[in-house]
Amino acid sequence: MLDSSSNPCPLCGASSAATLSQVHLSDVWQAYAEQWATAFSDDVIAKYGDGPVALRRCGRCELDWFDPALEGDSGFYSQLFTGGIAYETWRWEFDQAAQRIVDGARVVEVGSGEGAFLRSVLRRCSSVEALEKNPDAADLLRAAGIKVSEDDVRADALVRPARADVVCAFQVLEHVADVRGFLSALATIVVPGGEILLSVPNRERLFRQDLEPNDCPPHHLSRWSPRQFTAVAEVLGMDLVLVECQPPSLYYTRAARQRPVRMALRPVTGAWMAQLAGRATARVRMPERRHARLVAEGRFASRGEYGHTMFAVLRRRG
Ligand SMILES: [Zn+2]
Repeated sequence: MLDSSSNPCPLCGASSAATLSQVHLSDVWQAYAEQWATAFSDDVIAKYGDGPVALRRCGRCELDWFDPALEGDSGFYSQLFTGGIAYETWRWEFDQAAQRIVDGARVVEVGSGEGAFLRSVLRRCSSVEALEKNPDAADLLRAAGIKVSEDDVRADALVRPARADVVCAFQVLEHVADVRGFLSALATIVVPGGEILLSVPNRERLFRQDLEPNDCPPHHLSRWSPRQFTAVAEVLGMDLVLVECQPPSLYYTRAARQRPVRMALRPVTGAWMAQLAGRATARVRMPERRHARLVAEGRFASRGEYGHTMFAVLRRRG
């Protein structure tokens, strides 16, 4: 159903979008309690409410985004981090990104958390700088000798444009209501010929559930597939250098091969035997060495089997 009454797409600005579903925040709060043992206080819940939020797909760039965009504030995040989630110490895209950073580069990372990535490139860069709004994480970065600003990137870009060879934002875009403004700020900070490195969760990943609470507002406001990076390049007037999809883990590729066997056998053999047979089949069809070879050859993407994350590189025209 095309719904022209929605807000414009936060990436490309198109005003036509289809409504894919409605997410009720009451279900999100309940899922946090059940899946993450995280209970939010009444004042956080009251701020966002229990009501429905529409998940829309842009008619032009096909970004999926939540309308209205209920961005998580510091109250929401301090309770989320007290509960279930933590910054990850290493991520798949950090390796992809590190390969693109030449010695002596000036690097700015936006939303750097506790700085796992910046620390890994610190010694071989001529300067590294973090923009991080979480004051606890910012203190840790300072203690590691990394220059930090707690300003919003849009304000920062206005006063200090064109200062970085590489600007990184890993797992940030999906949290941002003003996608276009955020991306434009990154493009302002990078010098001509420099690169923006981005990562976001891939909505086409294996076993994505509609009600993963962390994939809904207020935590995530948009869901991405590889195609939207073409729109990012158009919006910014930059060249899209590459989009890479993280391959699925051994666990998920086996689970995908297990499921049809389990479903088919369950009515005949019962759940327990069906599960055993499913596991055995998956191990035979996807031994560890085969998984490693398919990862090395980049073969999962051609089968439409994706892991969690996508990594994209855009270059500012010189
Ligand atoms: Zn769009």
